[in-house]
Amino acid sequence: MVEFRPTEIHGLPGFRRRFIRTFSGIPYIDVLSHADNPAMPDSGSENFKIADPPCIENEPMPLNEIVARARRENRTVLTEIESKQILAQAGIDCTETRLARTRAEAVSVSAAFGYPVVLKISSKDITHKSDAGGVKVNLKDAAEVEAAYDGITQSALQRFPRAQIEGISVQPMARPGIEIIMGMTRDRNFGPVLMFGLGGVLVEVLQDVAFGIVPLERSDAAEMIDEIRGKKLLDGYRGQDSVDRSRLENMLLKLSAFVDANPEIAEIDMNPVFARSDGATVVDARIILRELSEAESARPVQS
Ligand code: ADP
Ligand code: MG
Repeated sequence: MVEFRPTEIHGLPGFRRRFIRTFSGIPYIDVLSHADNPAMPDSGSENFKIADPPCIENEPMPLNEIVARARRENRTVLTEIESKQILAQAGIDCTETRLARTRAEAVSVSAAFGYPVVLKISSKDITHKSDAGGVKVNLKDAAEVEAAYDGITQSALQRFPRAQIEGISVQPMARPGIEIIMGMTRDRNFGPVLMFGLGGVLVEVLQDVAFGIVPLERSDAAEMIDEIRGKKLLDGYRGQDSVDRSRLENMLLKLSAFVDANPEIAEIDMNPVFARSDGATVVDARIILRELSEAESARPVQS
C-alpha cells in the first residue's frame, strides 16, 4: 500500500507545517488499492443471490455497532451505505443512501427520495462498482429504476458469479460539482495522513494530490487545497462557479478530527466528493477497518 519514503520527505519546507508537498518522489497514496476485486472469495454459492439475512440495515447505526457487525462477519471493508452513515455522523455531508432488496423496493425508495436517482450494486465482494457495470445514474422514473435494477444485477452476475449481493443501493442524484477525492491512510512513520485532490480520471492520470498529517489545522487544510496543480478548476474555470474552499477545508478538518478519534479505522476513501459554490457532498465512500491481531480476532465481538 502506501510507501512513504521519509528520507525524501524530511527537509521539505512543507514538512514543518505538517504538510507534505506533492512531488514526484512521493508515491501516490493508492486509497483504491483494496479495490481491485482480487481473487473473488467463494461465498459458497455458484449462483447470484441476495444475501439473507440482510447484512445492512437502513436505520443508521452508531459507529461502534457498524464496526462490531463487520467484525462479526470478518470484514474490514465497510459498504458504501455503512461508510456514509459513519461519515454523516462525523458531520460530513453525504448523499443519503438506502438499500433496496427487490425491484419494487428500489422503486419505492426512489419515489421517497424524488427523481432523479442513482442505483448501485451493493456487495462486499465488489469494490469497483462501475467496473462491474454496477452504477446507473440519472434515473428519471420508475421504469428506468426497474431497468437499472435488472441491468445492474445481471452485470454483477455475469462478472462475479460468486459475489454475495446485499442488494442495490439507491440515492438521489447529487447536484453537480467539481469531482474531488479525499482520503485517509495510516503511514507507519507519520500516522494518519489525509489526501486531497481532483477526483475521477484526473486523480488516476495526473496523480495531482496533496497530503496533510493529522491533526490538521485550518491553515494546513487551506494549503493542501492550494497545493494541487489543477486548483484553477476550483476557482471557476471557464465560466463555472468557483467552489467554496472554506467548505472543503471544513470537510478536511472534520475528517481529521474523526480519524484522530477513531484508531479502529485504517483507511477512508471518499471518491468522488462533489464540490460546489455552496457546499460539498460525498457521493461515494469506503471505509476500511484495521486488521485485527490474532489475539483480538479470537476474542468474541461485543455489539
Ligand atoms: P465506483 O465504485 O465505481 O467508484 P461510484 O459510486 O464512485 O462508483 O460511482 C461512479 C460515478 O458515478 C461517480 O464518479 C460519479 O460521477 C457518479 N455518481 C455516483 N453517485 C452519484 C450521485 N449520487 N449523484 C451523481 N453522480 C453520482
Ligand atoms: Mg467511487
